[in-house]
Amino acid sequence: MEGKLFIYNSLKRTKEEFVAINYPYVGLYVCGPTVYGEAHLGHARPAITFDILFRLLQHLGYKVRYVRNITDVGHLENDADQGEDKIAKKARVEQLEPMEIVQLYTDNYHENMKALNVKSPSIEPRASGHIIEQQQIIQKIIDNGFAYEANGSIYFDVKKYNQTNKYGLLSGRNIDDLLENTRQLDGQEEKRASLDFALWKKAKPEHIMRWPSPWSDGFPGWHLECTAMSTKYLGETFDIHGGGLDLLFPHHECELAQSKAALGKDSVKYWMHNNMITINGQKMGKSLGNFITLKELFSGNHTLLEQAYSPMTIRFFILQAHYRSTLDFSNDALQASEKGLARLISAYKVLDGLETAEKSTYNVEELKNKCYQAILDDLNTPILIAHLFEAVKIINATKIGTEKLSKEDVSVLKQVFELFVFDILGIKIDENAGNGELLNNVVSILLNYRQKSKENKDWSTADEIRNELKEIGIIIKDSKEGFTWEME
Ligand SMILES: [Zn+2]
Repeated sequence: MEGKLFIYNSLKRTKEEFVAINYPYVGLYVCGPTVYGEAHLGHARPAITFDILFRLLQHLGYKVRYVRNITDVGHLENDADQGEDKIAKKARVEQLEPMEIVQLYTDNYHENMKALNVKSPSIEPRASGHIIEQQQIIQKIIDNGFAYEANGSIYFDVKKYNQTNKYGLLSGRNIDDLLENTRQLDGQEEKRASLDFALWKKAKPEHIMRWPSPWSDGFPGWHLECTAMSTKYLGETFDIHGGGLDLLFPHHECELAQSKAALGKDSVKYWMHNNMITINGQKMGKSLGNFITLKELFSGNHTLLEQAYSPMTIRFFILQAHYRSTLDFSNDALQASEKGLARLISAYKVLDGLETAEKSTYNVEELKNKCYQAILDDLNTPILIAHLFEAVKIINATKIGTEKLSKEDVSVLKQVFELFVFDILGIKIDENAGNGELLNNVVSILLNYRQKSKENKDWSTADEIRNELKEIGIIIKDSKEGFTWEME
């Protein structure tokens, strides 16, 4: 059974049936990373959430064009209109060209996404490759009377827009409250009002990333790129726009206003937002010291981590929460996910050798239907996973003879695993899974042996163990408490 897909539309603040604008085609746009640092846990959640949607829509027979951008220019510090460009700043600190920073961290993002088994989007456009398209949108907004020029920069006129439209439609914010809660302009700024946002910024003399325009040598505002690239690749109206909840305001609110001001229509039918990841109950942030990159998670190399976690453990952990709920990271939660995933995979591996009976004592078709219902209900992956664990229970019970499964039902269960676990949830069997723990144990045995050698004053054996481990990239550090080791 397949049924209708329901998704939560942030714009309507309710779950709605998904109806494609131009069946069987679906246009899906998701805000991608600003590539100025290593991919971290916060990058994994939107990528995996919309990967599930992409996979599900394809399974349901839609022809999906999935556009996920790379922000390589225009994203200023604190997401504001003032301050340094995040990429230019990193380039200055590292003494590299901005585009070297972009290449480095785009590659890093791709490597990490591949490890997490996130499919590549259909198109991955870069902001810096779409300057002309962005300038065209600005010109349209100016022509329609919703933007003004100030000293070579162009700003979106929020108050003017709000006279005939509603600014705050998506985030549910009221413009009067917003005006009250934003700081007053300090008189140094070019903006007429604090809510106005930059469409084009005139570059200061020292600013490297700059392009000519009818207004000044400068660069586009951050919100603009997504409007320009979604319009270019998905058309003036398209089905789904996704991103993290942190982007809802002001980024998506501004995107919505820009499209309406430029094109005279609402571009997006469904807006979807994934919730945030917290770490031991706290927001993740570089200043809080709880910032964990994906590479650190995969290697275990971070003070907050008790062990390494495989990319599939991270993926499974993220999917065990609904994408609209917050998800709290902790070692306990990740270790539970690791065990759960191992149970799921080993039950699948048992299926082939299972002894079958004439008749099943369990309704497998019903279980399959429940799996469909869960994923079609706004991508309810935790409920889907709960049903899959029900299957694990039945498989294990059949193995010890307390339940019976017919040959047909065993093959239905195999389909259920292949479809839901592998194709839709995007889990892949990691043949190396468990090797981390194995390595840990092997090194521990060697180090205990080295410790004994030292106690027996057999220094040459102790040194030999240390040197041979070093040759294969394992570094031992002696300390007061004994020793620790790490991979080079
Ligand atoms: Zn965006």
